[in-house]
Amino acid sequence: MIHLQSAAGDALLLECLRNRPLLALDFDGTLSPLVPQPAAATMDPRVPPLLGPLMAMMPVAIVSGRGIVDLAARVPLTGVTLVGNHGNEWLPGERPSVSIDRASAGLDPGQVCLAWAADLAAPLAQMGEGIAFESKVLSLSIHYRLMADREMARLKLLELVSQLRPPPEIIEGKFVLNLMAPGLVTKYEAVEELQGRFGAGSVIFIGDDVTDERVFERAPPDWLTVRVWDDEANQGGEASAARACVHGVDGVIEVLGRLGRLSRNL
Ligand SMILES: [Mg+2]
Repeated sequence: MIHLQSAAGDALLLECLRNRPLLALDFDGTLSPLVPQPAAATMDPRVPPLLGPLMAMMPVAIVSGRGIVDLAARVPLTGVTLVGNHGNEWLPGERPSVSIDRASAGLDPGQVCLAWAADLAAPLAQMGEGIAFESKVLSLSIHYRLMADREMARLKLLELVSQLRPPPEIIEGKFVLNLMAPGLVTKYEAVEELQGRFGAGSVIFIGDDVTDERVFERAPPDWLTVRVWDDEANQGGEASAARACVHGVDGVIEVLGRLGRLSRNL
């Protein structure tokens, strides 16, 4: 994997920039430092002054697992395309065509999530205060970062959610289980659709989480996929299918500045 903050990284960025790319970015852990309580996350203040000028040069989208209203409240920029719920909610006010096409067997994803939330309320409360439960309309997230024994908590949660009906698609993130209602798309389909809508010749996609690996794995070879590493992730010796990497939110910010400079000199 190529470190993006290097001469080889510059070559990759330049090659991609010549193809008029879409810049698509994850939010948590990419544009916003990870914090123990997801509700407290804010965009790094260095990001807006860098993204603003970039938006004049290329389409920019933020593609997050957060619900769209939650995400929009954390992005102090106008004109950036926002996609929430792992690719399934869009702003400005459109739904992805892929999601509607694939909506499964007459099940309303919102109703399915409500029923899951009702089934999970009591057993999650029993697990104690270290569990943070988030309902995001089309998906549910159960955070266990604050549990004393995280691996034990993870196994217990997996057992618990395996009993839900219809069975959720489970996307594991950093100390979080995301439960997706049947028939929803992933971030990959969302980014692919964004590329088509903007007529972009390529994609630069930057993210830090297990959900972003789905994009890295399926990306065509001409997309520039970038994994954000942090120390916590590196401890697990995780592998990544991304073509390049940067270290932490600081690395992302450096690369955003670099993208601006390279674009102006093209
Ligand atoms: Mg993330």
